[in-house]
Amino acid sequence: MNPKIDSKITDSEWEVMRVVWAQDKVTSKEIIEVLQQKKDWKPATTKTFIGRLVKKGMLHTETEGKRYIYSANLNESKFIKGILDETFDNICGKEVGNTIVSLISKATLSFKDIEKMEKALEMKKKDAVEEVPCTCVPGQCKCKDHNCSSGH
Ligand SMILES: [Zn+2]
Repeated sequence: MNPKIDSKITDSEWEVMRVVWAQDKVTSKEIIEVLQQKKDWKPATTKTFIGRLVKKGMLHTETEGKRYIYSANLNESKFIKGILDETFDNICGKEVGNTIVSLISKATLSFKDIEKMEKALEMKKKDAVEEVPCTCVPGQCKCKDHNCSSGH
């Protein structure tokens, strides 16, 4: 995989990536069609975003005759995982549990999903700690001023 991928993309670029991920290999015409319907974007707008994604290394380009064919250099699940990891890296360790609970509460889940979570939680019990430490830099979270362990 290309080590020079810049996966920091805008919401608009994300829209383009979703089309590419859904279809593996696409032409700009196909991307334009989907996003014209969904976002009412003009072809030039979509082409601008495609160009930026190529520059960032997110899209791979190959030519087929006169046509450009685009494919993703980073797959969707790796991309999502990267975003989630980055988000959780910015949350105080003490707040991670609450954040996950609120994600679960909002999500629509199947019995199968819940079964998987129950198994994951059962495993987690084995290395659970009495209290999750705050590893934040002073001034970047409230743990240092307030007593988080007393719950809030
Ligand atoms: Zn903290």
